[in-house]
Amino acid sequence: MKFLIIDGFVDEPTCLGVPPYISTYVRYVAGAAKLAGLRDVHYKTITELREKDFILENCEYSTIIAGNPVPGKYLGGNPIELKEIEEIAKKNRKTKFFLGGPIQFENCYFDHSNLKIIEKDIEAFIFHFFRHSDSSFRYRSIEELNEFAVNGAFIVNEHPRYPDIIAEIETGRGCPRVTHCSFCVEGLFEVDFREPKDIIEEIYTLNQYGVKHFRIGKQADLYSYGGDLSKIKNGFPKPNSLWIEYLYKGIRDKIPNIKTLHLDNVNPGTIANFPEESKKITEIIVEHNTPGDVAAFGMESADPLVIEKNSLKASPYEVYFAIEMLNQIGGIRENGIPKLLPGINLIKGLIGENKDTFRKNYEFLLKVKEDGLLLRRINIRQIKPSNKTQIKKAYSGKDEKILDAIFRNYREKIRNEIDNYMLKQIFPEGTILRNLIVESHRGDWSLARQIGTYPITVNIPKKIEIHKKIDSFVIAYRERSIVGFLFPFSIKNASLKEIEEIPGIGKKASDYFLNKETFKKEISKLKIFEKIRANLID
Ligand code: SF4
Repeated sequence: MKFLIIDGFVDEPTCLGVPPYISTYVRYVAGAAKLAGLRDVHYKTITELREKDFILENCEYSTIIAGNPVPGKYLGGNPIELKEIEEIAKKNRKTKFFLGGPIQFENCYFDHSNLKIIEKDIEAFIFHFFRHSDSSFRYRSIEELNEFAVNGAFIVNEHPRYPDIIAEIETGRGCPRVTHCSFCVEGLFEVDFREPKDIIEEIYTLNQYGVKHFRIGKQADLYSYGGDLSKIKNGFPKPNSLWIEYLYKGIRDKIPNIKTLHLDNVNPGTIANFPEESKKITEIIVEHNTPGDVAAFGMESADPLVIEKNSLKASPYEVYFAIEMLNQIGGIRENGIPKLLPGINLIKGLIGENKDTFRKNYEFLLKVKEDGLLLRRINIRQIKPSNKTQIKKAYSGKDEKILDAIFRNYREKIRNEIDNYMLKQIFPEGTILRNLIVESHRGDWSLARQIGTYPITVNIPKKIEIHKKIDSFVIAYRERSIVGFLFPFSIKNASLKEIEEIPGIGKKASDYFLNKETFKKEISKLKIFEKIRANLID
């Protein structure tokens, strides 16, 4: 009996599954199916199915994993759309489909007898359905999760970008904070943590199947991992640096060929409330991670009124404190790149937002910049509310339009005045970025990224084969990305387009093609060229 897992590319605050990421969901479903006794278990991405006009070959059962409650823009592939789920069901009437994952079911109205929506944990359903013919919805236990995780590792071999993929790793579920933010579903789950040994075992097994890139990203707050829920300060549990040490050290000891060890999701409130423990945890992470790591802080808003009305986790003062700590410990560079920097998530659509809110967000970030602190990324997103949470709609009618305009104005200011500045500090001109993978083309440009957490996009003014691995060095900056040339770089063979991109050259590039000698003399006077010169072949 053929069972196909269709990866619709999830993106939720605690899990990313857009290539090169492979989410926990697809791996756990593979493990559940295998443990339930299915032998013919396969995997296809939605991108692959689009190329085949959504037709499946001789498949009796299939699981579609879907859901991107926090949609963004993606280079690695576009998440599945509701109409595509419909089309898959319609075009493959003999296949029985189970739809699960972080998809917001309240938005789904399907009328296909061969498509069943599975609530709660899809992997638990698959296991009990095939093993015990039990079709009730259920959550998986932590013991089941550990079994599914190890047994599902084999599926990575079928990923079209294998072995250049990064596995999202789960440390636990539920928000360890006592109160929960108005917009977040994490508080609906009971808090449970996986033990370090089980996580290490999963990573080890994935590595045996060829995975070398990992992100410890599926959790509400890595600094609360294994925390003591009976020792609460201002609503936050006491962190457990011993578990973090055991986890990171264990991963490094057991997987010597690891290429990426990054993280995601850190609560700045935990750091501010437990500075000593958090300092220790940051030191452990910085000792064992790989460079370019980012701790994303869900600040959401710098407006005290909005923070209060939405029970947000930290005040601007506390977030600032956490930013400062990470800069001090994580700002050290390895291969020219900072080891661990903070990132900031801001959202729009919270209760109590008013015309001052977005200015306060901007002013907070401006202070961070003026104080010489670094932020690797500033993520500003619009809430897509789930009706399981307290928040439905923050404002309406006339207010909505006015606030939208103010929001856009400040977002633009943040992009121009802060993002761009941060990029220049973090990736100075001439920085060499190794092992980038070309992921997309925009006109004659190639867009490439390293494998990791929030990797910077490098725009290269040349068409390079998709998925080719390259090295590049930084030549200039865009709002939220970098312009880079291939490393090593040959000025003699450079195209007009490339020469034009050298800061200070622009239209004068055509002179180069008329009179190379004059041009060389001219550009050699430019400061930027002095830096680039070391990287030239000629
Ligand atoms: S602190 Fe807030 S945003 Fe973070 S996991 Fe808890 S409820 Fe969600």
